[in-house]
Amino acid sequence: KNAGKNQLATFDPEMRAARLEHSRLTTGLRHAIAQQELTLNYQPVVDLNSGAITAVEALLRWNPTGGKPVRPDVFIPIAEETGLIIPIGLWVLEQACADARRWHEQYGISVTVNVSGRQLRDENFSDAVLTILRRHDLPEQALVLEITESMMLATTTAETQRLISVLQALRDHGVRIALDDFGTGYSSLAYLRTLPVDILKIDRSFTTALTEADRRQQTRAFTKAIVELSASLDLRTVVEGVETDDQAGMLQQMGCPLAQGYLFSPPAPAARIDDLLQSAPWRKAAA
Ligand code: C2E
Ligand code: MG
Ligand code: MG
Ligand code: MG
Repeated sequence: KNAGKNQLATFDPEMRAARLEHSRLTTGLRHAIAQQELTLNYQPVVDLNSGAITAVEALLRWNPTGGKPVRPDVFIPIAEETGLIIPIGLWVLEQACADARRWHEQYGISVTVNVSGRQLRDENFSDAVLTILRRHDLPEQALVLEITESMMLATTTAETQRLISVLQALRDHGVRIALDDFGTGYSSLAYLRTLPVDILKIDRSFTTALTEADRRQQTRAFTKAIVELSASLDLRTVVEGVETDDQAGMLQQMGCPLAQGYLFSPPAPAARIDDLLQSAPWRKAAA
């Protein structure tokens, strides 16, 4: 039976191709930092009432030399498996803090960085975060770390407890924690009670379904309930993936304060964020 399985795996051309691609990407990713193939894009988080940019989310891009860009959904899991997410994650934090410094100084906006479970499990993580903040002279309050329920879940209770205390220690220093992709996990409510979070990001799937014919009534009820629950827990609520005026209007009516999505801006290079911030009408008001 085993031999049969192995044979199948070895000779299945599709699986062979997938494995080759995987090892090609792993090799490439190993040199991505040194070859300067990594860049960050930033997506504005917008106040639904005033239109002001309150934060930007750093989103990693990989453009292998002489090849096509690889999507984060493809290379982030590989970086996690291989442990390369540790150096890559540090590079992301370093670059995001360097870029965010002037944005924070001039416009008071914060920067949001996605963090993997593997990074949080690294015992040097919180020290590294605080050191990077100091190196770039960025106040702790200007940084938000995005985590997901699933990365807290995939461990023992004791390990989850340890991760919670790492987050809590960072929070005690003023770094804020956002729970990303909320509503896609299965124990959301139970986790909300125990996780030290400041910001709740409602997953894009809710936004999309708000205006879909078949599920919209149910989705609107759910979304409104999450927005209200979040507010009553004193969390800041951000809704992800807003693409249309209809969606933005509906969410604003539900009392959702903040949003992200192509309607406002796609993820863009730092220079484009500079332009956006400079041309924004609220600049005069803030000055
Ligand atoms: P995420 O953190 O939930 O980021 C939101 C994703 O939604 C981004 O995809 C963004 O480009 C996309 N998006 C934003 N607005 C819209 C919209 O209106 N419509 C649609 N259809 N999509 C929208 P992206 O950049 O491909 O990143 C995918 C995921 O990769 C991220 O999901 C995050 O989990 C992960 N990721 C990205 N950068 C990093 C990083 O530096 N470190 C780690 N650990 N993970 C990262
Ligand atoms: Mg995110
Ligand atoms: Mg998300
Ligand atoms: Mg996501």
